[in-house]
Amino acid sequence: MARKMLIDGEPAAALEEEATDFDFDLFVIGAGSGGVRASRFSANFGAKVGICELPYHPISSETIGGVGGTCVIRGCVPKKILVYGASFGGDLEDARNYGWELSEKIDFNWKKLLQKKTDEINRLNGIYKRLLSNAGVKLFEGEGKVVGPHEVEVTQVDGTKLSYSAKHILIATGGRAHLPDIPGKELGITSDEALSLEELPKRVVILGGGYIAVEFASIWQGMGSTVNLVFRKELPLRGFDDEMRAVVARNLEGRGINLHPRTNLTQLIKTEDGIKAVTDHGEELMADVVLFATGRVPNTKRLNLEAVGVELDSNGAIKVNEYSRTNIPSIWAVGDVTDRMNLTPVALMEGTCFAKTVFGAQESKPDYSNIPYAVFSIPPLSVVGLSEEQAIEQANGDVLVFTSTFNPMKNTISGRQEKTVMKLVVDAETDKVLGASMCGPDAPEIMQGIAVALKCGATKAQFDSTVGIHPSSAEEFVTMRSVTRTVAAAKPRTSL
Ligand code: NDP
Repeated sequence: MARKMLIDGEPAAALEEEATDFDFDLFVIGAGSGGVRASRFSANFGAKVGICELPYHPISSETIGGVGGTCVIRGCVPKKILVYGASFGGDLEDARNYGWELSEKIDFNWKKLLQKKTDEINRLNGIYKRLLSNAGVKLFEGEGKVVGPHEVEVTQVDGTKLSYSAKHILIATGGRAHLPDIPGKELGITSDEALSLEELPKRVVILGGGYIAVEFASIWQGMGSTVNLVFRKELPLRGFDDEMRAVVARNLEGRGINLHPRTNLTQLIKTEDGIKAVTDHGEELMADVVLFATGRVPNTKRLNLEAVGVELDSNGAIKVNEYSRTNIPSIWAVGDVTDRMNLTPVALMEGTCFAKTVFGAQESKPDYSNIPYAVFSIPPLSVVGLSEEQAIEQANGDVLVFTSTFNPMKNTISGRQEKTVMKLVVDAETDKVLGASMCGPDAPEIMQGIAVALKCGATKAQFDSTVGIHPSSAEEFVTMRSVTRTVAAAKPRTSL
């Protein structure tokens, strides 16, 4: 395998060495979304690829993990299964006014769902392993570390160490939950354990106001638990559009979740009645389970990177250039371990670009513009492009804000008091749609299509000229005729 390439202006000759000098063209540490994608695509380009991953277990640690990584084993996939499971609770309530006589007592069997979820994750773990072997990628089970610019070492479960040389090394080890250092923190759990609890907790306290906190609050509330959601800010989901954050908070509260804004936990105490979570306002919240959803940190501690001089940022993330290359030319990194945009589809994009650049002779930089994403609360929030606050900060002229708040048709019969909210943010000068948000049923399904429009640079006039699908919630995105407000940009347009 000897393809020519040019990266960052470096002459191809400086980068190319004969692959035959190495055991592998590429050795990947970490078989999650980014690592599996990069290794498969590199192998498809003809590279000889090895990959290592820790032995499989639903709850990760320094020494256990599994092919498929966080997203497949203890993240997006099992979480979405639980969101589906929890959503039936509300759907059953909604069904009554549609004529369903649910007269018998309805029970929720957590253990049954847990088993189904585990079976599905085991199946996916097997599929991911097959994807690797079908692509000709050699999988090693064990902990990988870097021992030189072209050298990796894999410690297998029995303690045996394997050493390999590789022309390129790719680090794709993801992230790990970060816990605040408060007394009694060992009584709390992370999202890993939350996805595999033996019993459904009756009372839950969740610390954090981010993705995981909000999603688990919806999951547990939907399954019948009493949920206290404790977060430091006025609203959950810092970084999202403020108006939409308020909508999510209202919906969580409307569904029966107890919100504790501007609050933190100072201590956890074991009592006969469970765990006492003490807040900085002196409140004592009793719980069977306390979940820390207080962010994740890049998983770099045990990779031996300092020894080879790979630069990390203050958070422990691997510093990379726009091609995902570290300061050591033969070492690259993709996904959450680089702490760029910590989402599975972004890790896939980075892995694909890496493979194309290094083995496909097509220089490819990941494009971070207009990436849509979603919080799978019930109902979900989904966004693409700029929030109103970001638009005001970044636009050169006025920003037009269009909003629509309405009762989704299903609720008119079910009687559920929960509005769907949609929002478009538009550059007044160019008419370009800068951002879209929606909180309501099916928001992620709708936003994926809106993201294509924004990627194509759609204008508000083009949204308006698109015919709606009737009756649907989605049609509101093409029928927002009147401006809700016009906001001046933070930096006024400079005349040319
Ligand atoms: P987030 O970064 O989304 O949120 C972390 C939350 O923890 C914030 O509300 C933060 O508060 C709070 N927090 C941090 N430190 C402390 C502390 N010491 N005391 C009290 N509160 C604290 O992290 P998550 O753990 O929810 O998720 C991790 C990442 O995983 C996400 O950023 C996302 O990239 C990814 N993810 C994506 C999902 C999706 O796409 N649907 C689903 C789940 C995870 P404050 O705002 O005040 O700083």
